[in-house]
Amino acid sequence: AARLRAFSGPTIFTEMTLLAQRTGAANLGQGFPDGDGPPAMLAAARAAIDGGMNQYPPANGLAVLRAAIAGRRRADHGIDYDPDREMVVTAGATEAIAAALIGLCEPGDEVIVFDPLYDSYAACLAMAGATAVPVPLEFDGTRFTFDPDRLRAAVRPRTRLVLLNTPHNPTGTVFDRAELAHVAEVCREHDLIAVTDEVYEYLTYDGVAHVPLAGLPGMWERTLTISSAGKTFSATGWKVGWACGPAPLVEAVRTVKQFLTFGTGTPLQAGVAHALTHCMDWVGELRESLQRRRDLLVKGLNAAGARTYPAQGTYFVQLDARSFGFTDGARFCRTLPHDAGVVAIPSMALYADKEAGRHLVRLAFCKSEELLTTAVERLGRYA
Ligand code: PMP
Ligand code: GLN
Repeated sequence: AARLRAFSGPTIFTEMTLLAQRTGAANLGQGFPDGDGPPAMLAAARAAIDGGMNQYPPANGLAVLRAAIAGRRRADHGIDYDPDREMVVTAGATEAIAAALIGLCEPGDEVIVFDPLYDSYAACLAMAGATAVPVPLEFDGTRFTFDPDRLRAAVRPRTRLVLLNTPHNPTGTVFDRAELAHVAEVCREHDLIAVTDEVYEYLTYDGVAHVPLAGLPGMWERTLTISSAGKTFSATGWKVGWACGPAPLVEAVRTVKQFLTFGTGTPLQAGVAHALTHCMDWVGELRESLQRRRDLLVKGLNAAGARTYPAQGTYFVQLDARSFGFTDGARFCRTLPHDAGVVAIPSMALYADKEAGRHLVRLAFCKSEELLTTAVERLGRYA
């Protein structure tokens, strides 16, 4: 269809992983860990397969998984959801995002997004026939954040919802309560829905806490919260995600997802249910280990003369390609695998305003210390 033409061809993540495979470069591009998730989760999924859980799950997800998700939201944030009416399991956060945008937007509706934005948002908005209205995230000397006035100015008569990703890919910003209060105020004032993508909710560092928008005053009833097991349990290939919110918003997601995939990986849902109830200590260790690996990468990059931007959460740190003599991060990322043996993602690929992200490059630190050390040595020689 004409509205999807701009999205044909492989995504930037696929393109860069293929380039890593072709060149044998250290792949700090696509965000996936090179280690497995908690052994007990893997065992629970294996046991589910051996125990005959190999047919369709219920369309809204295994009851045991929905109960586990509800338990986590309550224990971690004091936010309550009814597992039967206020929750749906999806094929990763990706499907939840797609189903939410298709299910909640009329053609011609406008959706406020923060720029840069995860690649699937623009594609799913095009599927829904809706328009993205970007609000820039700019470096304020400490981290990437938005100007509340720009957010307010983005609201127009056709605005339907605000789509917010926190912790944020690729900037690494974890929005704090004050920033979220601006989003909440705009949503309440203009009666907008909020859709939040919280897939990195447990991957925050230096004691920074993830704050769910749904927990702010007047927001539970207008917020659809999306997350997934991929990042939390180092299982990005399992594609088990979910959406929680008031029944009418969840109903909109379920309506679409039951005809997109109907259900996703029954035994994997059983594994994730086990992990959410029994493996959160493992996640705590993952967080500490990721913080150490972030520091290893950042120190190495800085020693090589690269300017980096602080990452409070996620798998990613951004650097300024101008430190390596490139004004264009995309050219830098195309050159790097061949000349230095490292693969990175040009942040520009995730920017609506290409100029704003031209010099930025995203590196993933969810990789082994060996691989990160290799990458740092190579970049040091290249600098
Ligand atoms: N949102 C963001 C911000 C992401 O970085 C990713 C990639 N993991 C996703 C959504 C997709 O999540 P999933 O793999 O669960 O579909
Ligand atoms: N979320 C991953 C990233 O940002 C990519 C997932 C994908 O390739 N679709 O690197």
